[in-house]
Amino acid sequence: AVGLVSLSLLESFLPIATAVSEVSTYQDSIKRLESLESKDLPKWSEEENNDAPNFPEISIELNHVCFHYSSGPLLINDFSLKVAQGEKIAILGPSGAGKSTLLKLIQGSLEPTGGEVLLNGRKPHDVLASIPKMLSVLNQKAYLFHTSVLNNIRLGNPQATDEEVYEVGEKVQLHQMINGLPNGYDTNMHETGQRFSGGERQRIALARILLQQTPVVIMDEPTVGLDPITENKLLSTIFDTLEGKTIIWVTHHLAGMEKMDRILFIDQGKITMTGSHQHLLKNEERYRRLYALDHPGA
Ligand code: ADP
Ligand code: MG
Repeated sequence: AVGLVSLSLLESFLPIATAVSEVSTYQDSIKRLESLESKDLPKWSEEENNDAPNFPEISIELNHVCFHYSSGPLLINDFSLKVAQGEKIAILGPSGAGKSTLLKLIQGSLEPTGGEVLLNGRKPHDVLASIPKMLSVLNQKAYLFHTSVLNNIRLGNPQATDEEVYEVGEKVQLHQMINGLPNGYDTNMHETGQRFSGGERQRIALARILLQQTPVVIMDEPTVGLDPITENKLLSTIFDTLEGKTIIWVTHHLAGMEKMDRILFIDQGKITMTGSHQHLLKNEERYRRLYALDHPGA
């Protein structure tokens, strides 16, 4: 059986994964899926994570975090943030602002070059084995595996029943599409890769996240490429399903901001604007303009 694994760790270790954001053309996407052919889903033992405790709550703290890639410029610049259990945080900012990097620092796949990240007071690097029980992560590059659609989703929680998998399939608005495949949920991703758009693949990965049982969920642009109606439906479902969990959500535009406790705009590694939706609407002309752009006629 596939044990509870950190998908983020899995992603960083496995060459068999395919990155949706890198799939540019039809041919390309088939080629990538074909390259998975000889590889099976890794067998992670049940024991893998049995030692790690379960966490009812996680506090996340970033203290004066600085980060630069090896030869790159300073990207995260003295960044501090505290997130309590259950808080919903949106992170916005221009492309290249360091949003994805920030999420990787939180999940311990990158280490700060200055300052510290603390999960319940511990550095991610010191508690790597426990991270799968702390955080569910949907990175910008979502990974799918050479196995059925059902298994790809159930990877989030090996104990989930078929019905529970169908339920999250519905929640991410893919149920109909999946049922239209030759073997429905049993169809191998490899056989039908060409039928899935980048956004659909991202939502398979999202369905997986909705099954995971961690107190914190981190998502990097999970609704990119969706039409506004589907996006709104999806946002409502995500927030209902993840009620009580901490959500850190990177987004490219201002959908769902009303549901957030805090919104952070970052640019050049610093917070340039922060507050609740209501606060920002009231006090920040720049926010009002951005919001109007994303909500024409509102
Ligand atoms: P965002 O998610 O806000 O668009 P990123 O965190 O992905 O920004 O990237 C911020 C900057 O860091 C960009 O200039 C990007 O090119 C650079 N960058 C991202 N990943 C790497 C990497 N692995 N090595 C070197 N530079 C990187
Ligand atoms: Mg990014």
